[in-house]
Amino acid sequence: MPNPRLTPEQRTMLYQPLFEKIKADLELASSGDPELLWALRRKIAKELIYLERSKPADRKKLKIQKFKEQNGLCTICGEALPTSGAELDRKEAIKGYTPDNTHLVHHDRHIKDQERKGYA
Ligand SMILES: [Zn+2]
Repeated sequence: MPNPRLTPEQRTMLYQPLFEKIKADLELASSGDPELLWALRRKIAKELIYLERSKPADRKKLKIQKFKEQNGLCTICGEALPTSGAELDRKEAIKGYTPDNTHLVHHDRHIKDQERKGYA
């Protein structure tokens, strides 16, 4: 399933006003302090990514779980995975990093699979 995308109308009617509001709130909250503004933007950007991708420690725990479940084998090619550097791949990005929605695969070897799914 391809990742959902905003329609042009959603970009104009929803995204743009929301983004302008967020930027104005950040300016207000930082009271003209450029260092505080920078730190607030960075913190919010990081936390937004965690909302979509989970925290790194949680993904690491899930990777270990999937490695055990898959007996250390890649679900695409069936060959042994490296002990580090394997990729935790979401079947559907919108469903997040959950045990049911992920599998562990070779990182570099399956770029074509990613391109086929339209994520690359
Ligand atoms: Zn593989």
